[in-house]
Amino acid sequence: MNPTPETNPSSAPFGPQEERSHSLVLISGLVTTVLTLLGIYVLDARTDFHIMGLYANYILPVGAILVGVAASSGYGLASWFSGIKITRSLLWLVLVLQLAAYFAAQYIEFNSRHLVHLRDGTPVGFIEYFDATARAFAWKQNDGSPGNPMGAWGYAFRGLEILGFAAGGLIVPLVLRKKPYCQACQRYMRTRQLGLVPASVPVKKVKKSDAAGLAAYEAEQQQAFDRGKQTVETLQQHAAGAKTTDFQKILAELETGKKQTAKLPRRFNLQLVHCNRCYAGQFVVKQLVGQGKQLKQTDFSSTELHSEFARSICQ
Ligand SMILES: [Zn+2]
Repeated sequence: MNPTPETNPSSAPFGPQEERSHSLVLISGLVTTVLTLLGIYVLDARTDFHIMGLYANYILPVGAILVGVAASSGYGLASWFSGIKITRSLLWLVLVLQLAAYFAAQYIEFNSRHLVHLRDGTPVGFIEYFDATARAFAWKQNDGSPGNPMGAWGYAFRGLEILGFAAGGLIVPLVLRKKPYCQACQRYMRTRQLGLVPASVPVKKVKKSDAAGLAAYEAEQQQAFDRGKQTVETLQQHAAGAKTTDFQKILAELETGKKQTAKLPRRFNLQLVHCNRCYAGQFVVKQLVGQGKQLKQTDFSSTELHSEFARSICQ
């Protein structure tokens, strides 16, 4: 039996719309790419600051990555605001366009210089120019003077620069690809913070030699964790059963101790992830351990919600 076009799921509902929407993302990305490269060109021409040549520890092309992020920002912005999902094929396309943009910028710069050979006045070719600039790569000395050209090694740094620019361009689209998405409404879901649940007692200094004290402290921590887990499980039951009043009563109780809870070494973060059109969504719990730079976040649980429940929590 041959599938008719209407019943073929891969070509049926989203075909033409996806094409139309992808082009919006692509056009926005190309606009920010052109603007960014124009900015770099002006910066290079007017000042002594060459952002593309900015490296951390001589190996990480920070400047190229930053420029790549700026150039590709239009892809991400258009996707976020229009709700057009970043697909795998779109990611590949962004990568190809970033590479094309890099070489286009090189070519435009080359073309604007009208270079000729000194010996006979014949025009310099683009490949010749690209080779010469790659080989001329040199680290700026501490006193500000240029160092020795690196020759063939210059290609390694040119390669890092191209890689940084292309990979930098994928950062924002990749982050968006991980975001929760409502397939039915074709838009990204929103995340709303609902509160924190204590999962430990405050940090206490116990001497290493005090074995009994350490054991007691450990038991106290375990009890606090179990209590927190119990609260989370109760919330999950209320959420799954769409018991809005009971759910919100617990949230209100948690709200009163929120400041102290935030300071604890371990706590649960409660989130409502929902589509703000159809209110499909999940009750998501994450475990937070540590503070500040040492903060570690892990997924703890996720409960599917009735749209009526998500809507009532949002109001
Ligand atoms: Zn939706």
